Amino acid sequence: MAHTLDLSVKSSVVTQAVAPLVNITGLTRAGLIEALTESGVVEPRKAKMRATQIWRWVHHYGFTDFDLMTDIAKDQRALLKEKFSLARPEIVERQISQDGTRKYLIRMAPGIEVESVYIPSVGRAGALCVSSQVGCTLNCSFCHTGTQKLVRNLTTAEIVAQVQVARDDLGEWPSPKEDRQLSNIVFMGMGEPLYNLDQVADAIDIISDGEGIAISRRRITVSTSGVVPELEALGNRTQAMLAISLHATNDELRDVLVPLNKKYPIEQLMAGIRAYPGLSNARRVTFEYVMLKGVNDTPAEARALIRLLKGIPAKINLIPFNPWPGSDYLCSDWRTIEAFAAILNKAGYASPIRTPRGRDILAACGQLKSESEKKRASVVRREQRDEAASNRDTGAAEGGLPFAYLTGDMLD
Ligand code: SAH
Ligand code: SF4
Repeated sequence: MAHTLDLSVKSSVVTQAVAPLVNITGLTRAGLIEALTESGVVEPRKAKMRATQIWRWVHHYGFTDFDLMTDIAKDQRALLKEKFSLARPEIVERQISQDGTRKYLIRMAPGIEVESVYIPSVGRAGALCVSSQVGCTLNCSFCHTGTQKLVRNLTTAEIVAQVQVARDDLGEWPSPKEDRQLSNIVFMGMGEPLYNLDQVADAIDIISDGEGIAISRRRITVSTSGVVPELEALGNRTQAMLAISLHATNDELRDVLVPLNKKYPIEQLMAGIRAYPGLSNARRVTFEYVMLKGVNDTPAEARALIRLLKGIPAKINLIPFNPWPGSDYLCSDWRTIEAFAAILNKAGYASPIRTPRGRDILAACGQLKSESEKKRASVVRREQRDEAASNRDTGAAEGGLPFAYLTGDMLD
């Protein structure tokens, strides 16, 4: 008997799409009020008050369970659970170095893994180096790249979660008023923060809120390879401290080291920095300068650097290059670095030489390599191809996690 399929009969089964839970971690205060109202969970007239209560439980106390929110009625908590989540991402690996450096490999989603590094005795007490993207579109020739291309931008929730995970591990909830272990945040992990400015700016709003994690904006530093058109917006929106990955004093060399320089050459970059909102002697720009043997480390270049920075309230961080397998560069000799630093010091610049931290757990610059790099190639890239394509502007760059070397005196 032949079977025929009657396509005129519509299926009586209606599949209802289940909306994913919204993670409260990634909502700014205004965003939280809006989300509470729009979800229908809270009446508009109560939304502000409810948001303040939830905010403190989440960002001051670090709670991940609605049922611990004792000033919110049980039925209201049940409604919240239906629409929202407080889940942390999974820590795939946690390592502690002999020098106290802690490295976390965090799985944000299947195939989306980032590393954050907590470095004690940096800044006021200790700094957390966070990532803003998985991979990077920019192809700086000295940055440990290896295999990773831009997978995708991190969301606000994923950026804030890096801070939450570190504070969970350090046992730093509720937010202490004094004697903090985690006092500073540096966006010096993976990715170019100014190519993900919306999410980075929202994350900074959340992290710096005085009723929550409360890390002041002047203890948050954003490092950029020089996305000039976004500098003003970064300053206006975040009031964060600015760090510039300079690495060369002339366009010819910087074009090679930081290819973005071809788009925004040094003169444009310096003009953008001079116009950075809030720049003053109390809020100086940090210039990062990686020391590459025989490439950018002569006394003449140190003097050129001084000329270039004239009139800009600045500090200079000399970063000993951290070699990676297959890299074309070598780190300058220690004596060369010291001679370079002495010239800068004489001109009045504090120019600390960053010392490698967490070497025994491979947490220093260019030493990190997340699992997502290894499995990225086929699965992740296919999944994320469209998104990556919309973000890519200089072609596929190689990745690698370029966490910087940090010293105690590099941050205030
Ligand atoms: N993309 C941003 C922020 C992340 S990189 C930027 O480029 O500024 C953080 C710092 O580490 C940058 O100054 C970068 O130039 C530096 N860096 C990258 N790879 C390095 C390596 N192998 N050795 C030393 N410093 C490195
Ligand atoms: Fe350049 Fe590496 Fe920073 Fe990307 S993360 S901009 S490749 S230094």
